Amino acid sequence: MTEINFNDFAVSQDILSALDLLEYKQPTAVQQKVIPVVLDKKDAIVKSKTGSGKTAAFGIPLCELAEWEENKPQALILTPTRELADQIKEDITAIGRFKRIKAIAIYGKQPFAHQKTELKQKNHIVAGTPGRVLDHIQKGTIAIDKIDYLIIDEADEMLSMGFIDQVEAIIKELPSQRTTMLFSATLPEEITKLSDLYMNNPEKIEIDSSH
Ligand code: ADP
Ligand code: MG
Repeated sequence: MTEINFNDFAVSQDILSALDLLEYKQPTAVQQKVIPVVLDKKDAIVKSKTGSGKTAAFGIPLCELAEWEENKPQALILTPTRELADQIKEDITAIGRFKRIKAIAIYGKQPFAHQKTELKQKNHIVAGTPGRVLDHIQKGTIAIDKIDYLIIDEADEMLSMGFIDQVEAIIKELPSQRTTMLFSATLPEEITKLSDLYMNNPEKIEIDSSH
């Protein structure tokens, strides 16, 4: 197989330098498949196991596509736990450091008022748990009109934790002209149903666990 490097993708030097600092030398299998699809702004359903590098698979193209000048969030990443939201925020901050991408994490059991203030300031990418994100949408404390990208991370975990209805409620509020990517380790029927309803002819990407 031909060797693929990060500089084979249409990503800028700011991002490549950040990946250097992170010591990401080569894209993982899921990154090789997903990065060009997100850069093309196409919908996709990605089945790939834990630890395969899914955060950077969406984080790299989202940092590349984000317009620094825009003050309102351009990407929303839904994830089942607070820990994952914080991790995604940190990873995206690291990938987007030279582009000065501002990522924030929004989740329950944290003061709402503080998040409200944070959401008012310039930010490009929001990672959050469904309940609290929906709360902010319903109270009008998060600007959603510039959201071009929705990432549903760990979709099967969202399902088993009972968050799918909240995910669906959020999707219904977002601008319909957007790119939607769904990531999951398994693809139960409820997940494929959700994608049939809310995704636009998604590309199916399955990474063989032996890679
Ligand atoms: P997943 O979301 O698929 O469970 P993560 O995105 O959390 O996986 O990545 C797992 C680990 O691999 C993290 O510690 C991350 O920093 C690291 N990683 C991701 N991509 C690369 C890469 N291209 N090269 C080296 N390490 C990587
Ligand atoms: Mg992950």
